[in-house]
Amino acid sequence: MERDFTIDIYQKLLVSFKDKGYALIAFEDYLLKDNLPHQYVILRHDIDKQASQAIAVAKIEKEIKARASYYFRVVPESNQPDIMKQIVDMGFELGYHYEDMSLCHGDIDKAKTHFEHWLAHFREFYPVRTICMHGAPQSKWDSRALWDKYNYKDMGIIGEPYFDVDFNSIFYLTDTGRRWDGYKVSVRDKIPVHQERWTANGWVFHSTKDIINAAISGVLPDKIMMTTHPQRWHNDLLPWTYEYGRQRLVNILKFTKLLINK
Ligand SMILES: [Zn+2]
Repeated sequence: MERDFTIDIYQKLLVSFKDKGYALIAFEDYLLKDNLPHQYVILRHDIDKQASQAIAVAKIEKEIKARASYYFRVVPESNQPDIMKQIVDMGFELGYHYEDMSLCHGDIDKAKTHFEHWLAHFREFYPVRTICMHGAPQSKWDSRALWDKYNYKDMGIIGEPYFDVDFNSIFYLTDTGRRWDGYKVSVRDKIPVHQERWTANGWVFHSTKDIINAAISGVLPDKIMMTTHPQRWHNDLLPWTYEYGRQRLVNILKFTKLLINK
């Protein structure tokens, strides 16, 4: 049986999109370009940890001339200057994967100062124009609450996927939970209103192979945003097995919590 969540299968997935005529674009391209093709996939990467895995994914994307957006956190396992420089040099978009409300324990004014400080840091590497929230499932703070009082557009930010993507026309895929139907157990990384419509259309996938097959048979929607966490994708057996086991355990814990909270 072919292992899922390897760099090789990620490459096959991108190639299957490309062969079907999808453009592979960054989030800022979606926001800025007015001559977008009819079919595209916005490639989004949340660098939660193991920043070096971003390079493995970026190499694949560069090879097939894709663009993508890489969102980095402030924590040391993500915020790696050498890695960020390489990502930018390879032609990709860099953005801020923010979690200021949870790091500042819900103090909204402190979180705003924190956000501005770190935005300036990431702008040393790239003219950051887009941001996206880190879900932080263990935290009781939803970092999007910062925008109840402040407006990121005042800080030169043109988009945040949770607010600035038209999910009426764009289908959302995420590898949250190391599966493609993990929205069932995800705390924050999901699009609740539209998910029911997508499910009714049969756009429900578990494995990467399921998506590849759907792409090949032409049943995928024309416009897609796909979020992946490069730390989940490994060719080598040892880190792959570790990630596989760790995520199974996390999913069981999340599922148990959902049952308890019911
Ligand atoms: Zn994240």
